[in-house]
Amino acid sequence: MARYTNAVCRLCRRENQKLFLKGDRCYTDKCSVSVRSYPPGMHGQGRSKTSEYGMQLREKQKAKRYYGVLEAQFRKYFDMAERRSGQAGENLLSILESRLDNVVYRLGFAMSRPEARQLVTHGHFTVDGRKVDIPSFLVKPGMVISVKPSSRDMEKLKANIEANASRQPPKWLDYDAANMLAKVTGVPAKEDIDLPIEEHLIVELYSK
Ligand code: SF4
Repeated sequence: MARYTNAVCRLCRRENQKLFLKGDRCYTDKCSVSVRSYPPGMHGQGRSKTSEYGMQLREKQKAKRYYGVLEAQFRKYFDMAERRSGQAGENLLSILESRLDNVVYRLGFAMSRPEARQLVTHGHFTVDGRKVDIPSFLVKPGMVISVKPSSRDMEKLKANIEANASRQPPKWLDYDAANMLAKVTGVPAKEDIDLPIEEHLIVELYSK
């Protein structure tokens, strides 16, 4: 299972935006975007104008990095989005949002998407009662995502839930905090996604 392993703060600096990949640290003044608000690399401070293609490319890179998806899989998601009815860009966001690691993050079980990915990989979650350790697993309406019974007392999980208590799960997830589970009640729509992604730029890029 491929994943990005270089220093993740460089990714945020490249996008000049917080991508919240490091949990707690992202909310402190140690965040690299706050400390060095220019792109990494020796030409980082010299870059200024961005072409139309450059803007489209950056938008795609940003979306990939938010969700921790590499190019081949992202492209597959786009092809899937195009095959669905409706707007390809919005379908793409909906697919990304339906990933199991994103759901775990959105429910507050993890402080960041990379941490959610790790928790899923380590087998701490079930879908419809069966262990699923594939972060890219796409949830569908009617499915129930739950913390595995033997993982419910995990200190890290409990600490994350407490730290994220004020975070509201999206309305397409019906969260039952007492039982550490959530039912998928719908398909994520664009308005449920609070990330600053201009999906039409990604569609334009792939339509060239
Ligand atoms: Fe990005 Fe978080 Fe690193 Fe800040 S601390 S640069 S938001 S990963």
